[in-house]
Amino acid sequence: MRNVLVVISGPSGVGKGTLVDLLLAEDNDLVESVSCTTRAPRAGEVNGREYFFITQSEFRNRIAENDFLEYDEHFGNYYGTPRSFVERQLRSKSVVLEIDVVGALNAKRLMPESAVLVMVTPPSLEELERRLSGRGSEGEEALRERMRRVRYELDQAPLYDYVVVNDDLQRTKREIQEIIRKEKEKQI
Ligand code: 5GP
Repeated sequence: MRNVLVVISGPSGVGKGTLVDLLLAEDNDLVESVSCTTRAPRAGEVNGREYFFITQSEFRNRIAENDFLEYDEHFGNYYGTPRSFVERQLRSKSVVLEIDVVGALNAKRLMPESAVLVMVTPPSLEELERRLSGRGSEGEEALRERMRRVRYELDQAPLYDYVVVNDDLQRTKREIQEIIRKEKEKQI
């Protein structure tokens, strides 16, 4: 059996984070890679759990040192996947990354033998907009910008290996578990 790099993407608010937590809780052979970001922590976020929150200059230094497997910029902030963590873990476990479309495609390009791209989509755009505005963490303009981003991300679904609709967390979790099981058995 091979170890896989499971890349989970999908618009924010779609339930990716909850799904990843459920997957991790039920699989000791799966670990999550925590990304670095230069954005400020949101209420309730803990350094080292959701992200490693670092400064712009630290991020740039780490880019220069080739410390990121991939990185990208969203809303004026950098986000990147630590290379050494992922490479080390993949020797004994599968690794899950929760990253955007550009990052996912880069991960596939850089690690084609390991990366499995899974896009999580909402049952409908209206439902997602309701969930996002319910968070109440940002203003009207930021919400509109996020919805533009959502449409862009969903348009990239054909580039993914799998697209799963998150209509029910437990069902969607099982679908992803099945994808991981099958992918691990593939001979590459
Ligand atoms: P948020 O600020 O809402 O946590 O994340 C904004 C976007 O950054 C999301 O689409 C998220 O998937 C993406 N993201 C988080 N970590 C990484 C990463 O390491 N690399 C890339 N390319 N995108 C990331």
